[in-house]
Amino acid sequence: MTKKTKEKPFWLTIALDKMSSEQWESLCDGCGKCCLHKLEDDDTGEVHYTNVSCRLLDTETVLCKNYGERKRFVPDCITLTPEKLKTINWLPATCAYLLIAQGQPLPRWHHLISGSKNTIHDQGFSVKGKIICEKEAGDLQDHIADDGEF
Ligand code: SF4
Repeated sequence: MTKKTKEKPFWLTIALDKMSSEQWESLCDGCGKCCLHKLEDDDTGEVHYTNVSCRLLDTETVLCKNYGERKRFVPDCITLTPEKLKTINWLPATCAYLLIAQGQPLPRWHHLISGSKNTIHDQGFSVKGKIICEKEAGDLQDHIADDGEF
């Protein structure tokens, strides 16, 4: 009888900069937090999240309405890369790319662990139900999120 060993998942064996685009994209947990407007304090450089989303984010599904062509409509949308991960200071601590770059495990609610893309929403770790679109929000200063909300 041969003993089968369980294969390690790709994010534990392939470096972020060696992943295929399919593998890279599959890591995104769909939290939607990177699609919220943030305000930076001029004096301290501290970044504050708001509950206001980019106009392309579907506030129901918290998915981008035009991911493939988003740069055409929102030119300053960031395309995350392994290099940019080292310089961006506003990603949420739960961002799957950050966790992997830091050698930390994916959380239990991540779809690659739980098997369902709904788990993150069901367990309250996404922005679903907590945001307003920039088209309706008005002044961003009125929408600064409470500490720990996002
Ligand atoms: S914060 Fe990270 S994991 Fe969450 S949606 Fe943005 S890229 Fe994906």
